[in-house]
Amino acid sequence: MESSPEAVIVGAGFGGIGAAIALHRVGIKDLVILEREDDLGGTWHVNHYPGLAVDIPSTTYSYSFEPNPNWSRLFAPGAELKRYAEHVADKYNVRRFMRFGVSVQSARWDEEQQRWRVALDDGSTLTPRYLLAATGFLSQPHTPDIPGITDFSGKIVHTTAWDPDYDFTGRRVAIIGTGATAVQLIPELAKTAGELTVFQRTPIWVVPKIDFPIPAPVRGLFARLPLAQRAVRQVTDTIYEVIMIAGVLHFRQLNPLNRGVAQLANLFRSVSVRDRKTRAELAPDYDFGCKRPTYSNEYYRSFNKPNVSLQAAGIERITADGIETLHGQRVDIDTLVLATGFDLWDANFPAFEIIGRKGRNLGKWWRDNRFQAYQGISMPLFPNLFNLAGPYSYSGLSYFTTIECEMIHLQRVLGEALRRGTDTVEVNEDANQRFLDEMQRRLDDTVFNAGDCATARSYYFNHAGEATLLRPTSTANAFHDARAFPLTDYRYA
Ligand code: NAP
Repeated sequence: MESSPEAVIVGAGFGGIGAAIALHRVGIKDLVILEREDDLGGTWHVNHYPGLAVDIPSTTYSYSFEPNPNWSRLFAPGAELKRYAEHVADKYNVRRFMRFGVSVQSARWDEEQQRWRVALDDGSTLTPRYLLAATGFLSQPHTPDIPGITDFSGKIVHTTAWDPDYDFTGRRVAIIGTGATAVQLIPELAKTAGELTVFQRTPIWVVPKIDFPIPAPVRGLFARLPLAQRAVRQVTDTIYEVIMIAGVLHFRQLNPLNRGVAQLANLFRSVSVRDRKTRAELAPDYDFGCKRPTYSNEYYRSFNKPNVSLQAAGIERITADGIETLHGQRVDIDTLVLATGFDLWDANFPAFEIIGRKGRNLGKWWRDNRFQAYQGISMPLFPNLFNLAGPYSYSGLSYFTTIECEMIHLQRVLGEALRRGTDTVEVNEDANQRFLDEMQRRLDDTVFNAGDCATARSYYFNHAGEATLLRPTSTANAFHDARAFPLTDYRYA
């Protein structure tokens, strides 16, 4: 079975919803949004472990054109993000384009038809003119291949497949991983588990979370006077932007600021964790910002509880009923929680096989020639393809900044293609090279290149050791580029 919509968007998270709104704005209304899950919301639909909340203030972590006056806290709980996604999809009338429970297998450019051939797992094919991959970065759960993991006979749960009916009360629980997810989950598990052992491989930088409920009168004010909320957004945007620019992007010039934040985090850990050995083991030995730092007021204090312990020795193997460490210790457990994150570079670059003009395979091309995408979104020899979670696309400030820059980019370039009445639009090789050179030049100033990140094991770095995930510029620069890149950087045919 074959159908030919004007555009196919893969992914119904905030990226896909934003892309659909952008297409709508330029008049492309014949579109299909494919989503492998059974509902919209992406990460905020999939993740529902206890403690889940945003870790960027909600005023900033939302579409600027759709402020939400209903956030209950400065750092809203995950369920509110899911509701917000539903609200936006309904208000902008894009839910009607969504098809759930469908996975894309591959996409191949058909030179003769000048369209994409998108193969789905149900055996059908879509042949859109435009293909937009909005598959996110953190969408393929990582299950570690620790020896013996398949022999474990107790309950095993990955944080992305949370079982709300499982009762942790009194259980002997191990959690593997100490990333942002684990930092939110550990204090919750510590409340009920009989014993909780945290298996840490790499410590994470943690800073205090200045969070509070947003009082009803303030929410009322935000609803009546959106300008007031915009003003607050301006404040939270600016604080985050300054931290990002000074602490991460211009580390070479401004590293005393970065070191200052690291000292604060060290002080916070020192006053929070009572046991000296645990405190020392929780200390990161790489620069602040190499890896995504996180916020929590409870994480460190959890280790003071009698039922919680840290295991930093490394895992030798998992057995049917326990975990053996590299130091020869054995921890008996009946429940294993995998807070082991996501396969990024292996599974999301790209999220499905994409073959462009002249048989260029996107994944192979990236691996053979460096990860690259013009303005983080388009690649030469891939006409009419926009990959929203591309190399150098991610703005460290908030994923919504990334999405909104991409929406502006899409509106400009597709608007131009429609105005000219062309079948295809494709970024020029030299524009792509220019952008790549600029990103690499800027990376030299960042903590990723100028700092000490050797032991961070950060997903910001690809297998070649290059930090090609974040766009190493301010968001002001990203927005400027989105609004002002020369339309002639694309070829229209
Ligand atoms: P993550 O940051 O990738 O952390 C995964 C953890 O699992 C790491 O501690 C990692 O250790 C460990 N791990 C993986 N494989 C292992 C193995 N074989 N043996 C031992 N340990 C292993 O994943 P995440 O915590 O799910 O967070 C991912 C990202 O999602 C965050 O950086 C953040 O951007 C986002 N996030 C956001 C929020 C929010 O906004 N509220 C909440 C959660 C997550 P190593 O570090 O040694 O690899």
